[in-house]
Amino acid sequence: MIDVFADMRVKPYWWEAAPRRDEVAPELPSEVDVLIVGAGYSGLCTARVLAKAGHSVVICEKDFTGYGASTRNGGMLGPSFHTLGTRGLTAIYGEEHAHRMLMESVGFVDFVRDLVTEENISCDFQRTGRFRGAAKPKHYDVMARELEYQIKVTGIKGELVSKEDVRSEIGTDRFCGGIRYDVDAGVHPGKYHDGLVQVVREAGVILSPHTEVTNIKSSGTGYRVATSRGSLRAAQVAVCTNGYTGKITPWLRRRVIPIRSSIIATEELDTEVMQQVMPARRMYGDSRRVHAYYRPSPDGRRILFGGRTTSGDEPCRSAKQLRASMLDVFPALDRVQISHSWSGLIAYTFDHLPHLGQHNGLWFSMGYCGSGVARSSYFGTKLGYKMLGDAENGRTAYDALAMRAKPLYTGNPWFMPVVLEYHRLMDRIGF
Ligand SMILES: Cc1cc2nc3c(=O)[nH]c(=O)nc-3n(C[C@H](O)[C@H](O)[C@H](O)COP(=O)(O)OP(=O)(O)OC[C@H]3O[C@@H](n4cnc5c(N)ncnc54)[C@H](O)[C@@H]3O)c2cc1C
Repeated sequence: MIDVFADMRVKPYWWEAAPRRDEVAPELPSEVDVLIVGAGYSGLCTARVLAKAGHSVVICEKDFTGYGASTRNGGMLGPSFHTLGTRGLTAIYGEEHAHRMLMESVGFVDFVRDLVTEENISCDFQRTGRFRGAAKPKHYDVMARELEYQIKVTGIKGELVSKEDVRSEIGTDRFCGGIRYDVDAGVHPGKYHDGLVQVVREAGVILSPHTEVTNIKSSGTGYRVATSRGSLRAAQVAVCTNGYTGKITPWLRRRVIPIRSSIIATEELDTEVMQQVMPARRMYGDSRRVHAYYRPSPDGRRILFGGRTTSGDEPCRSAKQLRASMLDVFPALDRVQISHSWSGLIAYTFDHLPHLGQHNGLWFSMGYCGSGVARSSYFGTKLGYKMLGDAENGRTAYDALAMRAKPLYTGNPWFMPVVLEYHRLMDRIGF
């Protein structure tokens, strides 16, 4: 009996090529134009716009730079249409508004492509397309109806893949068809984050790791911000904490649901095995109730397999659950070693939509609902323009969406393990 976890490292695979560094935090200035809380893609993209326009900017990060989801994610980029489907979104917001949101979403991937090209960020951006497998015939029917509507409204390029053709996309008999989108892409999330850090540093931003913001108090025309390394005054403050949103911003904390997402990486596989399981080398997902996403590593030699587990922050347990989900799709991988296991926090919202704007003077962008690589880059940039007072460049169809809370919810999603177990059960019994 082989132990497939024998050599497993409990850290993101991405940190091998983009290692986290021991950094000394710089001295904080006593005053700054803009203070940003959180050094993920949102904070960095907001800072980029403001610093390039001549503002002095400090980013405070409570842990090391890149601690949050931005160096832990799957690196999968897509339009991220609404969970309720494009028709669901239209039913809630009406055709005109919903269609504007959908049209804007189709541009998210190109936005990142243009950003990394303009800033010369080398992060393995690859336009791979995405395949989503239908776990059941009725899912395939829903996909067909969705695709028809999406093409009509947004012009997105995609095709239904019949059961007979599934194996040209993915090496499994698990799916009874699926859908292929051409716009989706992949990046190396660690390299992308490192590239953004370099860009903002060159623009003059002070990045302060190991600096937890502990209090933000309105004072005169600006804010007094207390941190674990002293306090400073800021004319404007942006909160870019997404799944790590904490007690200093209770209004936001009541409006985002932190959910842990986990990933495993396999050892390097033979070229023939990679060709067999991921012949089209795309980004992948499926319609099983317990969400899973998978892709080849940018060098095409490993499989990265992610999803929700019920193991919390326990990478050894989550690795077992994810491996079981991976073998459900690729039974042939049962003797493959798992090389890495890790997790991070994403932020859901009660309407399944991202939110940006201002509350009581504080700026924020968050709630990307697990699809935040492109969204955080895009909305972080929009937030930067809004803070500059540049209404035209800051405008988005996602403006002015009411960010709702729920009675009795204060930021601790105690109900999530129950919800996940329910979905696992439904997958098992075929609902
Ligand atoms: C395992 C996993 C897989 C994912 N896969 C994908 C994917 O394939 N595609 C996709 O589109 N999205 C994916 N996502 C989501 C995506 O990574 C996030 O939406 C995105 O990185 C959010 O960026 P951010 O900058 O808003 O937040 P983060 O990168 O999470 O950064 C927030 C930062 O705020 C800091 N912070 C919090 N409070 C304070 C404080 N008081 N003081 C100072 N600092 C503070 C935190 O330490 C943290 O570093 C995934 C996420 C995870 C965890």
